[in-house]
Amino acid sequence: MRDYIIVGGGIAGSVLAYRLIKEGKSIILIDNDSPQAAWKVAGGVWNAISFKRLLKAWMADEMTAEAHLFYKDLQEVLGVSFYEPKEIVRLFSDVYSQNNWYLKSDDPNYSAYLNDDFPEALNALPLNMPYGAGTVKNGGFVHLSVFMSSLKEHLKEKAVLVEDSLDFSMLSISDDEIRYKDHLAKNIVFCEGSEVLNNPFFKWLPLKPTKGEGIVIKNPGWSFDFILNNGKHLMDLKDGRLGVGATFEWKELDHKPTEKGKNELLAYLEKNFNYSDWEVLDHKAGIRPTVSDRRPLAGVHPNYKNVFIFNGLGTKGVLIAPWMSKKMVKFLLNGEVLPKEGDIQRFVKKHFC
Ligand SMILES: Cc1cc2nc3c(=O)[nH]c(=O)nc-3n(C[C@H](O)[C@H](O)[C@H](O)COP(=O)(O)OP(=O)(O)OC[C@H]3O[C@@H](n4cnc5c(N)ncnc54)[C@H](O)[C@@H]3O)c2cc1C
Repeated sequence: MRDYIIVGGGIAGSVLAYRLIKEGKSIILIDNDSPQAAWKVAGGVWNAISFKRLLKAWMADEMTAEAHLFYKDLQEVLGVSFYEPKEIVRLFSDVYSQNNWYLKSDDPNYSAYLNDDFPEALNALPLNMPYGAGTVKNGGFVHLSVFMSSLKEHLKEKAVLVEDSLDFSMLSISDDEIRYKDHLAKNIVFCEGSEVLNNPFFKWLPLKPTKGEGIVIKNPGWSFDFILNNGKHLMDLKDGRLGVGATFEWKELDHKPTEKGKNELLAYLEKNFNYSDWEVLDHKAGIRPTVSDRRPLAGVHPNYKNVFIFNGLGTKGVLIAPWMSKKMVKFLLNGEVLPKEGDIQRFVKKHFC
C-alpha cells in the first residue's frame, strides 16, 4: 500500500509529489495531461508585488525566498535549466502611480522589491512612456514547459506517474485505505486546479475560476532581459518570439481562445508601443484556480481524515507552490498547522456545521 495518491499533476500536484518523494514517501500521481491545464498557458512569471494597490503579496518575503531556493535546487537535481531571477519593469500610467511608486520605494518594507530606476535597455524599445517606469527586483521566471516536462520525466523515472483521468465512480474511501482501480493507498490528495469544481469531495469550496488568454508574437528584433508590465506582461522568450499575457475573464469559462482576448492583448501592445506590425504565432486559453479570498485551498476534508486538497494557487502558482507545498508536507507528515489563511478550515463552518 502506498502512502499517497495525488490527483492532478499540474504545478501544485507535481511539486507536492516531488517533495513527498524526497521525504521518503511512496506515492502515485494520477494526471490526465489535459491540454487546458493552467500551467500549459501560464507565463511563468513571479512577482511578489501586486500592482493594483502597490502592495506586497501575501507572505511575499517568505515565498520569494523559498521560490528562489526551490527552483535553483530543483534545476540541479533535474540537470535542466528553467529558472531565472528577473526584474519586472512597470510602466507608470499616470503621475499618481509614479508618485505612489517613489513614496513606496522609500519604505524599508519595500526596499527589497521597488526600485525607482529602470534598466538602460528599456530606452532601446519603441515605447510610449510618458510617465517613466520603475523596477520590481526579486522577481523570477520559470520556463514552465521545460520545468514541468523535466519534473514529469523525473516522476516517470521514479515510476510514480500514472496517465489517467480520475473516475470518481471507481474510487472507494474507508478509514484505513483509499482504493482506485488497482491502486491502494493510505491517503489521497486532490490537486486538480480548476477541475476541482467537479470533485464531489471539495466542490463546496469557493473556487472562483478566472479564464486567461495569452499570445506569442514574432519578435520584431528586440532583445531585453526584464519582464515589461503595464497591466499585462511582455517578455522576450529568446527564440525569436515574445510572450504577451494575460487577460482576465470571470463569466465565460470555457477553454477556447477568443478574438476578444487576442484583440485585448494586441490593443495593449498598440497602446504601449510605437510599433504596429505584430504577427501572432500562437494563442492559448486556460482557467486559473482562483479563490474568492485569493488564498490557497489546503487541508483535510472535514469528514474524511485521509482525503486532502492542495489547490487554489490562483494567479501566482509559480510563486506560491514552493512555499505552500512545504507547509502542506509538514501538515501531512507531522501534523503541523497550516497557515490559517490558506487552510480550508476557514470555510468548513459555513458548509458543515
Ligand atoms: C493565461 C494564464 C496566465 C498565467 N500566468 C501565470 C504567471 O505568469 N505566473 C504564475 O505564477 N501563474 C500564472 N498563471 C496561473 C497558474 O497557471 C496557476 O496558478 C497554476 O497552474 C495552478 O496550478 P495547479 O496545479 O493547481 O493547476 P493546473 O496547472 O491547472 O493543473 C491541474 C492538473 O490537474 C490535472 N487534472 C485535472 N483534473 C484531473 C483528473 N480528474 N484526473 C487527473 N488529472 C486531472 C490536469 O491535467 C492538470 O495537469 C496563469 C494562468 C493562466 C490561465
